[in-house]
Amino acid sequence: MKIIFIGAPASGKGTYAKRLVKEYDLTHISTGDLIRKEIEAETQTGKQAKEYTSKGQLVPNEIIIELLKERMSKEDAKKGFILDGFPRNMKQAKELESITEIDKVLNFEVTMDTIIRRITGRRICRSCGEIFHVKNIPVKDNKCTKCGGEVYQREDEKPEVVKQRLSIYETESKPLTQYYEEKGVLVNIDSNKDVSNPEFDVIDVCKEIFNRINNRINIER
Ligand code: AMP
Repeated sequence: MKIIFIGAPASGKGTYAKRLVKEYDLTHISTGDLIRKEIEAETQTGKQAKEYTSKGQLVPNEIIIELLKERMSKEDAKKGFILDGFPRNMKQAKELESITEIDKVLNFEVTMDTIIRRITGRRICRSCGEIFHVKNIPVKDNKCTKCGGEVYQREDEKPEVVKQRLSIYETESKPLTQYYEEKGVLVNIDSNKDVSNPEFDVIDVCKEIFNRINNRINIER
């Protein structure tokens, strides 16, 4: 099963991808996580990428496509994946088509209120990338509940940078919804409810879609 998650910053892509990959035995490929790893390790790619991420801009296509290709060539990507944060513009979407086929694109729709509320409270583990929120998914002593790593606020989640990221989302990434709609692979999901909400149903909606894809794949085999 090959799935793409698209949506604005803090629309829930990463949080849901991390939960669903376990149940469906898929690999979570987040280009944001790949870049943060390069930056942490202070590699040449990381140094170049930081120039852009720190300003809320997209990392140049050549860099991100190279990182993605390398990740997709690993053994664990062959069992199926959720691609989170790629593609983010038309060039990347076309490039992806030359690398792999895709079953469905899930578009996580959120209002501006939701985005602001989530981004200001979002925290992330420096070691494993697990996502937390000061109110909805709190942690004690900034310690990751999964791996014990340090939990911090991303540099690019400070207000000025967030503004730039949202503006780039509107101009570069949002047109992808129409592109995938025309290809007949898009599913829109209302992602305004939080993970901690008792009526929380986003995961169930995703599971229904995943189960349908799995059934179709099994019939075709
Ligand atoms: P994310 O964790 O997906 O919000 O990504 C964090 C940052 O990494 C983005 O604001 C971009 O600077 C960069 N980035 C992640 N994915 C891509 C991509 N597909 N193309 C260009 N830049 C990206």
